[in-house]
Amino acid sequence: MKIGFIGLGIMGKPMAYNLLKAGHQLVVYDIVKDSMDKLAAAGAVSADSPKNVAESCMCIITMLPDSPQVQTVVLGEKGILKGAKAGSLLIDMSSIAPGASQEIASECEKAGVRMLDAPVSGGEPKAIDGSLSIMVGGNKALFESVKDDILLKMGASAVYCGEIGAGNTTKLANQIIVACNIAALAEALTLAKRAGVDPMQVYEAIKGGLAGSTVMNAKAPMMIKGEYKPGFRVELHIKDLANALETGRVLASPLPLTAIVMEMFQTLRDDGAGQDDHSALAKYYAKISGESIN
Ligand code: NAD
Repeated sequence: MKIGFIGLGIMGKPMAYNLLKAGHQLVVYDIVKDSMDKLAAAGAVSADSPKNVAESCMCIITMLPDSPQVQTVVLGEKGILKGAKAGSLLIDMSSIAPGASQEIASECEKAGVRMLDAPVSGGEPKAIDGSLSIMVGGNKALFESVKDDILLKMGASAVYCGEIGAGNTTKLANQIIVACNIAALAEALTLAKRAGVDPMQVYEAIKGGLAGSTVMNAKAPMMIKGEYKPGFRVELHIKDLANALETGRVLASPLPLTAIVMEMFQTLRDDGAGQDDHSALAKYYAKISGESIN
């Protein structure tokens, strides 16, 4: 199938490669030309705007940072809706506010364009090996129609979560759990270090027990080495927790843990670590305790 792919960053680039590998034709667009050139070298065709992508593809995937970028790319002057034919399908795989997904989908509907929100979890390694977890909102039959040939070419699982916006609500739940896990890990390893116990021994001893997790296996080694190359940037996690807190406010659902970890991330960003991996929460603990895990 001919698929448009817009947003070729840390996640979008390997996801697009996997679609090419699966035999799909790709038309790609990103504001960074170098990213398009890399995909073009692998066989994709470069476009000069989202409108241009939509003119030539009935199925368009977006993988962008946040709600404002998806709004611009879909609804803007040279946006997807300016070029899309009625009956086209938009699969937005960015992590954005559920309310924004619903608003964008309603504008799409007016133009006869159908939309799924399908954010992912798993990070860059799973984007590269095509084993992302994909959570999807929108029409169920539409989801079924793209599940095997498109979504499962980028992911190991694709689960239907409910109406449009449900994919992003599920993603917010995921991001709250990941953020709180990372904070707990940084707090616990800082305590161990202060007590004179080697954080690596602590990790080795507990990773197979109840506290063990995918987050622990991915992030404890980074904290112990003090290497914070992203991965998932602090700035993006602040964006997700801001969307979670706003959603919680609208629904009157309490989020005290999320609010605390948000404060930590913001302090970290203000200290210049916004582009670091989110495991850099260990640096926040180093600052307030004077004890560095690495
Ligand atoms: P990124 O910043 O690396 O990539 C975003 C890409 O979008 C960049 O290439 C950028 O140039 C492009 N872009 C921005 N505005 C644009 C516009 N107006 N038109 C065209 N292209 C534009 O971000 P990422 O890490 O790839 O994340 C993308 C989404 O996936 C985010 O919503 C993020 O929260 C989510 N996500 C990221 C990870 C991760 O580990 N990095 C994991 C799961 C989900």
